Amino acid sequence: MGNTYVYDFDADAPGGRELLGGKGIGLAEMTRMGVSVPAGFTITTDACRAYMAARELPAGLAEEVDEHVRKLEATTGKRFGSSDDPLLVSVRSGAAVSMPGMMDTILNLGLNDDATAGLAARTGNPRFAYDSYRRLIQMFGEVVDGIDPHSFESALGTLKSERGVKQDTDLTAEDLQQLVATFKEIYRDETGRDFAGNARDQLLHAVRAVFESWDTPRAQVYRRANDIPDDLGTAVNVVQMVFGNKGDSSGTGVCFTRDPSTGEDILYGEFLVNAQGEDVVAGIRTPEPITLMRERLPEAFEQLTATLDRLESHYRDMQDVEFTVEEGKLYLLQTRTGKRTAGAALRIAVEMAGQGVISREEAVARIDAAQLDQLLHPMLDPTAEVEAAAQGLNASPGAASGEIVLDADTAEARGKAGDDVILVRWETTPDDIHGLIQARGVLTAHGGMTSHAAVVARGMGKPCVAGCEGLSIDTRAGTVTIGEHELKAGDVITIDGGTGRVIVGPVRLVPPAIDENFGTILGWADDLRRLRVRANADTPEDAAKAREFGAEGIGLCRTEHMFMAQDRLPVVQEMILARDESGRRAALDRLLPMQQSDFEGIFEAMAGFPVTIRLLDPPLHEFLPSAEEATSDAMRRRIAELHESNPMLGTRGCRLGLQWPEIYEMQVRAIVRAAAAVQARTGEAPLVEIMHPLVGFREELARLRELTERVAAEEPSVEYLCGTMIELPRACIRADEIAEVADFCSFGTNDLTQTALGFSRDDAEGKFLTYYLEHGILERNPFEVLDQDGVGDLMRIAIERGRGVKPDLKLGICGEHGGEPRSVAFCHALGLDYVSCSPYRVPLARLAAAQAALADEGVTALAVGG
Ligand code: ADP
Ligand code: MG
Ligand code: MG
Repeated sequence: MGNTYVYDFDADAPGGRELLGGKGIGLAEMTRMGVSVPAGFTITTDACRAYMAARELPAGLAEEVDEHVRKLEATTGKRFGSSDDPLLVSVRSGAAVSMPGMMDTILNLGLNDDATAGLAARTGNPRFAYDSYRRLIQMFGEVVDGIDPHSFESALGTLKSERGVKQDTDLTAEDLQQLVATFKEIYRDETGRDFAGNARDQLLHAVRAVFESWDTPRAQVYRRANDIPDDLGTAVNVVQMVFGNKGDSSGTGVCFTRDPSTGEDILYGEFLVNAQGEDVVAGIRTPEPITLMRERLPEAFEQLTATLDRLESHYRDMQDVEFTVEEGKLYLLQTRTGKRTAGAALRIAVEMAGQGVISREEAVARIDAAQLDQLLHPMLDPTAEVEAAAQGLNASPGAASGEIVLDADTAEARGKAGDDVILVRWETTPDDIHGLIQARGVLTAHGGMTSHAAVVARGMGKPCVAGCEGLSIDTRAGTVTIGEHELKAGDVITIDGGTGRVIVGPVRLVPPAIDENFGTILGWADDLRRLRVRANADTPEDAAKAREFGAEGIGLCRTEHMFMAQDRLPVVQEMILARDESGRRAALDRLLPMQQSDFEGIFEAMAGFPVTIRLLDPPLHEFLPSAEEATSDAMRRRIAELHESNPMLGTRGCRLGLQWPEIYEMQVRAIVRAAAAVQARTGEAPLVEIMHPLVGFREELARLRELTERVAAEEPSVEYLCGTMIELPRACIRADEIAEVADFCSFGTNDLTQTALGFSRDDAEGKFLTYYLEHGILERNPFEVLDQDGVGDLMRIAIERGRGVKPDLKLGICGEHGGEPRSVAFCHALGLDYVSCSPYRVPLARLAAAQAALADEGVTALAVGG
């Protein structure tokens, strides 16, 4: 008994999305619901994996396909490969995870010269028959034989200009018949073979090509960018063709059950009369708004809205649907959970919870924390006077300024080099994906809200202005016309994806605030999470911003930035250059009131919430200029003395505080005095946590604790906690000893990652780490996503040992990982008390913490696919 690889849409398959792919499961479910769907069957992802392993179709698959084709013939009353009334099918890829436009689809399979003539006679519509045939030759040529689509497109363009027409639909049956002849010549020139006339051969070639399309470079790039595993494979759907290109009562469209840009509960989409679906998706013809369909095809429109309502209630989420109308009759060809902007995701979740469609928990679980980042991205400064040079569609919100780049390779190279670039194209194709990933935003001349550029940009949270009619591009000359302006590659433009405006030159951008829906979701999240969320903030302004974003304290206040301030640096340098302790103390005495006022500002901004202040951490040479810029011999000498081969592992952190105790004494004094002053002023005692960096040995912290207590005893009495960073592997291993003298510990996972992995971040990123990531030695950058197996295990050991001696030891994390959703989930699982991250990531951390708590209860996001 071999495997079963093929299931009809109305069959009971022994698996779901993983087995049938998103498109296949959607078609099967719609069929079961009684929605109007053309008949067909799905070849499973198992078959794809078997194909990938052997690079040939698994044994028995061809026969199984034959059998299901025979069933399809029985259902439809047509014959596959017949020249009289031929059954035509589409062959469509469909992975478990949606990869829009990444893989291949072939329409009108089963046509050859005879069948086309038969179809023309049978339908009395030769124009339609030849139109379908030329599409098949082009798609088959591209997908199966790898022929450059431009060969076909330029032949079509030439014919249109010879006939003096603008639209494909203006070509006559005779024109299209001639185009078929030209396409067949192109096919023969490119492959050395005649176009395959046998329907069964076409089908098997197409199935193989769809399997192969799983492994194209662009699909691989997309998977890497979206964290999709390489071994999922794609299913293949074989679907009876229905025809949107049969005349004016036919057409094809794409629509969403709610607006994917704003989330508003309105029908949203586009429609093209007398066309096949590829025309909408590829952005070749600019389609009309879906509402015009109501006038042109009222009955089909009624059916469509009724079906959409059913689909949305069935899936309990916004759906993205592809459909075709054949001579007035509606067919659904695809449904999937629709991709949406972060703003839309919030609005939809809040409104669906309000409508009782989903619970608050589900609403919170559904929001993609990483995607929310796009709401915390810049917008055009509303007070800036801007003049739009051209107007396009507002395809993906947010604003970006950057230099014009005209091709994806350059966009990728310049973006990787850290330049701000805007990719400017007539339209984008899936082959541009690597450039889109690196660009700040994308601007296209063609295509609508559902064009490739628009869909991909929304998914990535990048600004996109699409279908900008005032834009034209001369790629060869490297010039661009935007409205009245003549520009060239390298000139700066600004795009506003929220309004569709294109502006010449840079514009000031501002960070947006949290809107009402965002606030609502975060409020719900706060009720659900266990982890507390703090911010890393060094100034009263940062602290105020952090409060606005909902931070419940400061987990890391770095004091070195205060030392760097313009008015402080000369005094700090004086302190470093002093020949003896008394010279140092004199300088420190002048720094003390400055530090104290810094701390007062921060305590006031964080009233009622804890503030962890880390004493001076960086090596002292960071406060001195380079040897070439030294202003005196004494300074030059001191710079030479302080030189270190590996400053990251040198005299810094508590090592500094132990060798030059007067520095930490001054800081402790400033903290305690600030707390007393704020308490006197406001009547409320700040919650002070004094943190000693880079401790590896119990003795280090014991001595610094003693220093802290001694100095604090000399000052007005305030309450405070004394603790340490855990950022060295030794500190993790010996956390039990360290905990004996610590009130709290905060994992400094930036340094802990460096020291545990033996990676110096500066020498890793952009260098060998990039090689590691590109060659799959590491899956993720451990400085962005916590290395849970290595660094995470050290944390686990530290927590066990630390809490072993002190069960109520307060534990947090203050590395950049504290704002990264997967790492936040890990911190939740470890049982930390809080995470601390940059103010702008606080909202993401609040959400991620709630989602981690919900996952414990089994509430997780629905899979998005299609
Ligand atoms: P993609 O994954 O790129 O969206 P699809 O397989 O969904 O590719 O096919 C693209 C478009 O081709 C569909 O939106 C639909 O309009 C059209 N199409 C696919 N199969 C059929 C069919 N059997 N009949 C009519 N149109 C089809
Ligand atoms: Mg589709
Ligand atoms: Mg550190």
